[in-house]
Amino acid sequence: MNLKMCTFVFALQLIPSALLAAEVTITFPPSKSTLAGGDQTFVIGKVSPPATQFEINGVQVTPYRTGSFLTMMPVTPGKNTLRIKAGSREREHIFYLPKAATLPFQPRIEPLFPARPSGVQTGQSFSVRCKAPANSAISAQVGERVLVLKPEANDPTLYSAELNFSSALKDLPVTFFSATLPDAPAGTLSALAGPVAYTVTGKLFETQARPATGANAVHLPPDFNLLSTGYAGSSHTVWLENAPYYVDQRYLKQIKTPAALTKAQPLPDLGKGFGPHPPKNKSPRETLIVLDAGHGGSDPGAIGPSGLTEKKINLIQVRAIEKILKAAGYQVLLTRVDDTYIGLYDRVRMAYNKRADAFISIHYNSCASTSNPQERRHISTYVWNEIGKTLGRAVHSELEKISPARSIGVQKGNLAVCRNPAVPSILIELDFITAPEGEELIQSTAFQQSAAEAILKGLRAWSGQ
Ligand SMILES: [Zn+2]
Repeated sequence: MNLKMCTFVFALQLIPSALLAAEVTITFPPSKSTLAGGDQTFVIGKVSPPATQFEINGVQVTPYRTGSFLTMMPVTPGKNTLRIKAGSREREHIFYLPKAATLPFQPRIEPLFPARPSGVQTGQSFSVRCKAPANSAISAQVGERVLVLKPEANDPTLYSAELNFSSALKDLPVTFFSATLPDAPAGTLSALAGPVAYTVTGKLFETQARPATGANAVHLPPDFNLLSTGYAGSSHTVWLENAPYYVDQRYLKQIKTPAALTKAQPLPDLGKGFGPHPPKNKSPRETLIVLDAGHGGSDPGAIGPSGLTEKKINLIQVRAIEKILKAAGYQVLLTRVDDTYIGLYDRVRMAYNKRADAFISIHYNSCASTSNPQERRHISTYVWNEIGKTLGRAVHSELEKISPARSIGVQKGNLAVCRNPAVPSILIELDFITAPEGEELIQSTAFQQSAAEAILKGLRAWSGQ
């Protein structure tokens, strides 16, 4: 026993221990951080010893039995100070909110096309468009030409005029103007003599073609060729099955147009050699499940009141699932086995390249600072496409049975790891890590075991194995 310990034991006899040694740690909001906004925030952290009651800004806080606590606090723009008083000790914890904007509303013209340097085809009609207050007289100067814009029938704050170029030209300046509003310089316009051919240089799943209709994006494999008829900023308009799609130019390289390339270019089939989904007539031994522990390395994910990181508990839970799936005979591959960061698309590619039968990503949820994690606490499973949906439903219906948290069911989530077009992929938010009860539950081996068993049950129900 050293001298420090002697003093501690002696002091204990005189003052109630909770008041003497109380140590309050705030996990959120982090010290000197800046929150997004709002008029309240959750404050989470832990106190030791766990039963210590203390005050934040004069409000009594009663910790959960683990010592983790959650309380909501009002906040104001600028500097915010939490005064934490435990026994005779008092200290401050500072964080910030953005200062309230004081700019008065200024009516103005907002260019829509071209908003950025853009390219169109010669001979093809297109619209220059902007947004401005209704009943304004709006014109556009396009190079030497002046166009009068008309309000659109369904929205009087949208103005447009049709235009086409008969010959190729480069970087024509465009400005929208009105007698009553400040000038609005827009992106430049170029006219391209003909369609340009591109090939995909981006990695698989990194390169997406977004349909103009708002339907699901399509993944383009490397070395896939496309015709482009224009661009807006960094986005190229390319054609697949005679419909326009947008692709980020970072993933494209111009090539000499191959003779066979047309706007009717068929959509790539990335599902070739995969399936059926669910795997029919396959034994568990022939079935490969990829388990993905979310986050890792420099990305901790969400953080619980006691400082538990999502990346750490994700991996612990994944290890429990791995054990139970292997015992049931399944082949299992983990996207990460230690505390390293793996890119989202690397995780997806791993499942694709191994021709996995299912991909399950494990996460724990949190909420915006303005909401109360205790009230928001729930479990959910995210899916994106049809092949993911059946797997998600089967697994989630088993998880609902074992989780004490409210279930919000299977949700459609446009998440990188869910978009795999060939491997049924789901992302499970197994509880709220920022709620003290959730944080305690997910660390218990009993819960980890029953969650793993539920996932196995769901997989079996899905695959009929
Ligand atoms: Zn996460």
